[in-house]
Amino acid sequence: GQAARWAGHIVSVEGRPAVVTAMTIVPNINTNLLKGTPNLLVGIKYIDEAFISEIGRSLLLSDLALIPKPAQRDGVVSEPFVGDDGIPAGYLSWTTRRPGQMLLHVILPLVAFGIFGTGVLANTMFKRLKRGSEELARREAQARHEAKHDAMSGLPNRVQMVENIENFLHHHTAERGNRRAVAAYIDIDRFKDINDTLGHEAGDQLIKVVGQRLKARLRPQDFLSRFGGDEFAILGMPVGLGGDAAIEERIAQAFALPFSIHGQSIRVTASVGLAVAPDNGVTADELMRHADIALYEAKNQGRDRTVLFSAEMAKKVEHRRSIELDLRTALEANQLRLHYQPIISCSTGAIVGVEALLRWRHPVHGEMSPVDFIPIAENAGLLPALGEWVFDQAMKDSKHWPNLEVAVNLSPVQFRHVELSAMLRELVAKHNVEPERFVLEITEGVLLEATNHTNSILEAIRAMGFKTALDDFGTRYSSLAYLCNFKFDKIKIDRSFVSKISRVDTSRTIVESVVKLGRRLGMDIVAEGVETELEAVMMTKFGCTDLQGFYFSRALPADQMTKFLSTFQPKRIAQAPHPLHIVAATGAAG
Ligand code: C2E
Ligand code: CA
Ligand code: CA
Repeated sequence: GQAARWAGHIVSVEGRPAVVTAMTIVPNINTNLLKGTPNLLVGIKYIDEAFISEIGRSLLLSDLALIPKPAQRDGVVSEPFVGDDGIPAGYLSWTTRRPGQMLLHVILPLVAFGIFGTGVLANTMFKRLKRGSEELARREAQARHEAKHDAMSGLPNRVQMVENIENFLHHHTAERGNRRAVAAYIDIDRFKDINDTLGHEAGDQLIKVVGQRLKARLRPQDFLSRFGGDEFAILGMPVGLGGDAAIEERIAQAFALPFSIHGQSIRVTASVGLAVAPDNGVTADELMRHADIALYEAKNQGRDRTVLFSAEMAKKVEHRRSIELDLRTALEANQLRLHYQPIISCSTGAIVGVEALLRWRHPVHGEMSPVDFIPIAENAGLLPALGEWVFDQAMKDSKHWPNLEVAVNLSPVQFRHVELSAMLRELVAKHNVEPERFVLEITEGVLLEATNHTNSILEAIRAMGFKTALDDFGTRYSSLAYLCNFKFDKIKIDRSFVSKISRVDTSRTIVESVVKLGRRLGMDIVAEGVETELEAVMMTKFGCTDLQGFYFSRALPADQMTKFLSTFQPKRIAQAPHPLHIVAATGAAG
């Protein structure tokens, strides 16, 4: 029988050295089937870096390389490497383990042997190469899939989404107007809470189910992807006018029924931002950025809603972003300041405490209100740092007034931050202050969410010795239930009530009941935003224990506060006997 024949040589192909092999293709069972001259299988394997290092590895020469010029370093051997066609291909170089001619003589033939090989070696090498390239192709396909898909949900990822939007826009920009597409960004509301309370597995499962439900609701031509975390994105493909509303409806349906996660049935809502091409963007980048801005706005408006992008939104975001950057700089450059507003006792008329209030003079916009820049800081994740700065400064300043309580505002974001107690503990040690002198002011918003968790944070803070106050009471939900369910040392009645007190009867009734209940529960009641003597008198009459407001003083820098204290004359606040005092007294005694 006639076996296949082969030949292999090192020659230069298009100026690059290569192993060229040729093999006859003959039937391996019945050679009689062969008619005429057999076809040839020609293989060209360039002697490139990978190839040389493969050989180097099999010869245990880790740095075997084909280089254009001989190496000049000690211990590195370079030998000219000439192809079978006589064309020099460069120098083979490697580091000798023990430099010496003897070894060189051993290695050079070995290298030659490795390259020319025997028929067997060449053959197996050829097969290996083939297998290798197949494996490579398979891995490449897998990598390509992985690069475009999210591992957990199996959905396409951002990369694929961008590609699809680009494709769509590329094909449809010519027919502007009638071929529209909607980009929808979807973010699961309070996903972090779900993750924290039910565990990561439950969170993962929720992501999967949300993905499946969305997929089921969409039309086949719509494109669903996951951006990681709890974010999904949809490209609703060609839609007519009103197509954004249709997508909105489909998304809403996906969240309509409760989710069954780990045997628990939970209601989940989502915030959605929409941007329509070409109106809201003609490039993928623009469209996606605008959908993202709309999503941000949806979350900002209180979540569980869909918002369509608008131009004003972009302006607002631009403004916020610049403020955010400036705030970062200000924080790093220590350009923030704390001012202090006195708190006056109703019974003695003396100053018993101060509230620390953050101040920032923006280089362009001038003095900015914390009401405007704190939410930006919260959203930018600046709060742990900013909050720490406030505590650090307040504790430092508190040394000036050893007999006063110092109230510090805690943002809800900061309150939920895991490191809060550790941060407080560290600062107490650093400044060697008594936690009992500090009142942490928390707004009602905090109490709405994850009550168990909230209670344990409150308890931890109180256990360290800090006092707590429920701030802005009356502005939002004003639930009296909070006063029973959570332990606070003080309630601060919001200015809106105080300023209405002389005119509106219902305000009076509300203030009276809050004071009554609060004092029965042993809390101090601070009236905020007292601007006139009348308000001071009336709030005292209704049973408040402390007053704070412009009537006494605005917030002042620390040094001015010290001066203010030294000259302050206790104000006589006319006190009429009031039934509430009697109620409170019996309450405390019983
Ligand atoms: P807040 O905690 O209710 O602080 C009281 C606000 O009312 C202060 O505004 C204060 O200047 C103002 N105010 C006090 N008395 C009167 C008055 O008689 N009339 C009127 N019209 N206003 C009065 P400010 O300093 O602009 O602070 C606004 C809010 O910003 C604060 O409300 C608080 O929620 C937040 N904030 C301030 N500093 C910080 C801080 O360090 N951290 C955090 N997280 N929030 C802060
Ligand atoms: Ca406050
Ligand atoms: Ca307040």
